[in-house]
Amino acid sequence: MDFSSKLLENAVNEMSQLPGIGKRTALRLVLHMLKQPERQTEELSHALLQLRGAVQFCKKCHNISDTEFCEICTNPKRDSSLVCVVEDIRDVMAIENTGQYRGLYHVLGGKISPIEGMGPQDLTIASLVNKIRQGEVKELILALSSTMEGDTTNFYIFKQIEGMEVRTSTIARGIAVGDELEYADEVTLGRSILNRVPFEGTFNTH
Ligand SMILES: [Zn+2]
Repeated sequence: MDFSSKLLENAVNEMSQLPGIGKRTALRLVLHMLKQPERQTEELSHALLQLRGAVQFCKKCHNISDTEFCEICTNPKRDSSLVCVVEDIRDVMAIENTGQYRGLYHVLGGKISPIEGMGPQDLTIASLVNKIRQGEVKELILALSSTMEGDTTNFYIFKQIEGMEVRTSTIARGIAVGDELEYADEVTLGRSILNRVPFEGTFNTH
């Protein structure tokens, strides 16, 4: 792509670093911004900088939060004996949208994936195991997507907490294999949380 302006080229290059944004889309977005009032670009930049500078992760569930402990963890109406293990904040949002779940979450920050160089130590698994050891959690719902990485991660966690005083369940698979949680429709997802099944029954032991 040949640019008549170095400034334009820089902006397009930066924008095209984002996932799913090619050079053409980046150019379209940048030209769109130039047509809008300058204030709009300032507000976008300001929001992003503020997010990067001030964002925190809840010390209890590792969800993105504006405060030390997130609104879900500090809500006295939530059932703290029930913890749902998810990959990231998008899953929390998807499950919250169903309106069917009153427990807490534990956000792992990814899935075990040797290909992407993601091991158990890169996730918040140790903090999860600690939480279980402290004994407040009565049931752990493993709700990672049913991809190979999701299954591996579920199984790894299950092995880590084997023998501890906690029930382990998984969301009923009305959700097709390979579907990411965030794309499951709310009714299906809500139902699968209510109809969760013991995790032991969902994998082959040989
Ligand atoms: Zn929290």
